[in-house]
Amino acid sequence: MEKKRFDLVVIGAGPGGYVAAIKAAQNGKSVALVEKSFLGGTCLNVGCIPTKTLLANAQVMHKIKMAEEYGISTGNVTFDFLKMKTRKDQVVEKIRKSLGGLLQANKITILEGKAEMLSPTEIKVVGTDNCLIEAENTIIATGSEPLDIPAFPCDHVRILNSTSILELTQLPKSLAIIGGGYIGCEFASLYAEFGVQVTILEALPTILALQGKGVATALTSAFKKQGIDIQTDVFVEGIEHSGDGVSVKLRDKEPLEADLALVSVGRKVSSSHLGLEKAGVKVDSKGAIVVNEKMETNVPGVYAIGDVTGEFLLAHVASHQGIVAASNILGREVKMHYNAVPAVIFTHPEIAVVGMTLEQAKEAGHNAVVGMFPFQALGKSIATIDTDGFAEVIIDKGTGQILGAQVVGHEAATLIAEITLAIQNELTVECVSDTIHAHPTVAEAWLEAALLANDEPLHMPPKQ
Ligand SMILES: Cc1cc2nc3c(=O)[nH]c(=O)nc-3n(C[C@H](O)[C@H](O)[C@H](O)COP(=O)(O)OP(=O)(O)OC[C@H]3O[C@@H](n4cnc5c(N)ncnc54)[C@H](O)[C@@H]3O)c2cc1C
Repeated sequence: MEKKRFDLVVIGAGPGGYVAAIKAAQNGKSVALVEKSFLGGTCLNVGCIPTKTLLANAQVMHKIKMAEEYGISTGNVTFDFLKMKTRKDQVVEKIRKSLGGLLQANKITILEGKAEMLSPTEIKVVGTDNCLIEAENTIIATGSEPLDIPAFPCDHVRILNSTSILELTQLPKSLAIIGGGYIGCEFASLYAEFGVQVTILEALPTILALQGKGVATALTSAFKKQGIDIQTDVFVEGIEHSGDGVSVKLRDKEPLEADLALVSVGRKVSSSHLGLEKAGVKVDSKGAIVVNEKMETNVPGVYAIGDVTGEFLLAHVASHQGIVAASNILGREVKMHYNAVPAVIFTHPEIAVVGMTLEQAKEAGHNAVVGMFPFQALGKSIATIDTDGFAEVIIDKGTGQILGAQVVGHEAATLIAEITLAIQNELTVECVSDTIHAHPTVAEAWLEAALLANDEPLHMPPKQ
């Protein structure tokens, strides 16, 4: 087997791995990036990008349904789901191609194959490329996969996971979604917009249990208005084929019949078959690679980033961890901080959160208060008929420090950036309220929420 030497080998070309590779290569390191499947990882190929491309269709559909309110007559609206799927594939292909070019421009050696560690400094690659790599440093960025549960046997035809549902070329009449986390909710939003009868089955007392009570309540009520059936506190015992569809067996309840089932009950980290035991790299009980704030594993020279570390499972966290790991390899001491991690759920309505909820801030000992501004009172939202939802900021009343924010409603994904920047830089609420916000924009919701947090409302009646 051919032997190759690099300063750094990165295993996995998802948003964690390829970003780390670029950072190290730009700073003079010779870098090999090993990928067993497609450049861009889960995020580009079967995660963020394909789902958001499909959800963009749902947004257009939503606006078309409201056309009369804008004074526009559309007549009978039809759609072609196969065309939507084809466009999704084209978007992924286009970005994947340009990513390949970017990596080449950074003089990164791409090796196509499966990597296995033989020791802390030796990696075997088997696949289209076959070689033995020796490297001073390794970054493991092998990501995660849909969790397989024997009771929910995905055949990828009627019982689907988040990867196989992206291959559908026509819509089912009904869809049972097992798991009301953000992935399940995004697919619920997509399919319901196109008229599919969607049922979400969630074992916990609420959907979006990890995102806080406020947003969970807001999305539950919006989904119910859209006709999405949400069943919480239900235990799914199994899924079977039945007639032309599936039968979802529920404990102490009648089974639910549907055309298709989507299993979205979580993800497992991809750390087995990596040879971690040969390299001596520690994993926790779920197989997640144990790292410190510098993204170092217990083995000197070996780093791990992204989903495989079990932290957050978000693309932008993976990328940031990649920068931190590469910076440490370059000799600049940098640590990861998780107090300003934005998270967005691309449902209708859109949801975005960062930092602490009011309850978390109080639990952490802050004299926390909230400033909440409803879009109903915002000029831009009224103009565009996007008045559902709110933007709220959580602050420490004593110091004015901004601790967290939640947005439910239009442009939430973009809005959250302002407060993320504020939290990251430990700004106070006055920094927001003293900033001139362009009018009329949705960003004015932050100005108003900041003023409300300080009991100085401008476009809301004063507190009695
Ligand atoms: C349906 C869905 C929607 C999502 N939407 C969002 C979103 O909107 N926003 C967001 O932030 N996150 C989203 N995510 C999560 C996001 O995709 C992940 O957090 C992100 O991709 C993790 O990046 P990563 O680099 O750690 O790993 P991955 O992207 O999983 O990449 C890991 C790569 O490693 C490769 N690999 C694994 N083992 C080996 C090996 N032995 N040798 C060589 N290569 C190997 C894999 O083939 C893969 O390409 C979504 C996920 C899903 C499933």
